[in-house]
Amino acid sequence: MCRVSVRPWPAAAALLCLGVFLAACLPPKRADAVERNRGGELKRVLVLHSFGREFRPWSEYARDIKTQLERQSPWPLDIQEHALLTARFNSPGPEAPFVEYLHSLYQGALPDIVLSIGAPAARFAQKYRARLFPDTPLILAAVEHRLINRADLSGNDVVVAVRNDFLAAFENILQVLPDTRSVAVVVGASPLEKFWLEEVKRELKPLDERIELVWYSDLSFDDILKRAAKLPPHTALFWGLMSVDGAGVVHESDVALRSLHAVANAPIFSYQEPFFGDSTVGGPMHRITETSSRTVSAAIGVLGGAKPGSINYEPIGFAAPRYDWRELRRWGISETRLPPGSEILFREPNIWQRYRWQMLMIAAVFLVQAGLISGLLHERRRRRFAEVESRQRLAELAHANRYSAVGELTTSIAHELNQPLGSILTNAETAELILSANSPDINEVRQILADIRRDDHRASEVIRRLRSVLKKSPFEVKDIELNDTVREALGLVKAVADGRRIALTYVPVLADLHVRGDPVQLQQVILNLIINAMDSVSDADAGKREVSVSTLLAGHQAEIRIADTGPGIAATDLANVFDPFFTTKPQGMGMGLAIAKTIIEAHHGEIVAANHAAGGALFTIRLPIAS
Ligand code: ADP
Repeated sequence: MCRVSVRPWPAAAALLCLGVFLAACLPPKRADAVERNRGGELKRVLVLHSFGREFRPWSEYARDIKTQLERQSPWPLDIQEHALLTARFNSPGPEAPFVEYLHSLYQGALPDIVLSIGAPAARFAQKYRARLFPDTPLILAAVEHRLINRADLSGNDVVVAVRNDFLAAFENILQVLPDTRSVAVVVGASPLEKFWLEEVKRELKPLDERIELVWYSDLSFDDILKRAAKLPPHTALFWGLMSVDGAGVVHESDVALRSLHAVANAPIFSYQEPFFGDSTVGGPMHRITETSSRTVSAAIGVLGGAKPGSINYEPIGFAAPRYDWRELRRWGISETRLPPGSEILFREPNIWQRYRWQMLMIAAVFLVQAGLISGLLHERRRRRFAEVESRQRLAELAHANRYSAVGELTTSIAHELNQPLGSILTNAETAELILSANSPDINEVRQILADIRRDDHRASEVIRRLRSVLKKSPFEVKDIELNDTVREALGLVKAVADGRRIALTYVPVLADLHVRGDPVQLQQVILNLIINAMDSVSDADAGKREVSVSTLLAGHQAEIRIADTGPGIAATDLANVFDPFFTTKPQGMGMGLAIAKTIIEAHHGEIVAANHAAGGALFTIRLPIAS
């Protein structure tokens, strides 16, 4: 036999936990409802609407009252709603069938409370309460105090009335638009609306002198729209009530007001909050919440057992004025014209409020960008200074390098100077001898003097070249002809080459090579390269010591080539020869090629070292042709 052992405790504990968990998870509203179901029985509320459930302004009052009631009621509610359609008709038909319908509906189960919204519903409830629900408490909500049938009020009734102040509503129009000369009043033709028409007329008597009133009560709504589109200047529209127009057409909801707003060429005013927010300018008006909160607290009080007769309220007047910012702008109404304490709603955020973050981001980006730009400008200035500085240093270094190069040439230069000086001395002595003769040969003397002048020129030319190459001058760029510059440099080293028995040849291109540059510095580069070439061939056998210089025009570039028949540059050194202090010579400083490279690059050119296949080094300088 199989026995199943039941262990009740764990199962019960699990259920309990689940219950606690569910209770914790339930939203507060649900928890309230549970509480209410436990605490009290269902309350039945009958709501009577005046023209229909979607008729403004009452629909808005009813909606708020229902919402608040459901929220605040400690009991579960059964709210049943009925609309009194008979109020729509200009000549109301018999109400008896509707009364009978309600009677049969509530015969067995009377509501706990009856709530009428608006004047027609209040009148109906008062008139038929004896037949329909004689002992049920009645709350007459959102009804103008003039429309309450006080004679029929009983101790079982609460009145939540409002007070319309048309004079205040029209004075508001004149306050915000002082130039207003006429006001067209939109009001329907139902009995209720006719009543109000007369009331408005009566209340506005004090303004007879100031404004002309135009009444649209006999017009169809189509005609009203046509007129509203062509109103003369300084006219305003006053939206009274439009339930049933002059042609008997019913206008439910706020569609009518919206269509009027769409065509009207004048601002629309009203005294009801339910019409505010889409179409009307604003001003003092009835606030929905004031009526609904009183109605709801009265209803809850009565449902809880309070005596209706003990709840007394004064009629509610207009609340503080409110204005629609969009309408104020549309009609050019200055905010300074609004009465003190006014509230302005629907203000559109300005561009700063709407795109605050985006604009902050853009401003930040601008700031960062401005910072970067100023930083870069600062850097650029610093770089310029550094460039000028480095050029000065380069000029100084180059100058020092020239001294050392020329130092190497001193012997041959002295030799070159000695030659013309010696000739001059010999020629002078010869001339003296000729002149000391009895009949000196003047022609001979003239020739000797010509020789002396030629030798003097030679000597002074050597000195001029020397001075020009040793000149200490800042880096200056001018138009130069490169063939001349090369020739000038060769002039300086020619004597050295002769002294060392080196064949120094020069093959210039048959074209002008105009470049922009500093002639002294370019001469120095050429001089350096030729001296290096001459050094490299010094150990070669006599007859094999050759240095050849040539110039070329290659496209938009001028080329100077300096080739020699020396041993060339070791393959491993080719990449280093332009490095500062690189030298393979025992007495060398290793600065000549480094300075040459810097000078050529400052001229936007390039210098390349290579070896000839047949032996010997080849240095090529390329400089851009001046445009
Ligand atoms: P320095 O002449 O004081 O050594 P340079 O900068 O003028 O300094 O030259 C650097 C080195 O480049 C030289 O020591 C040499 O090794 C090499 N060099 C330059 N020109 C030639 C050349 N025509 N043939 C062979 N080697 C060369």
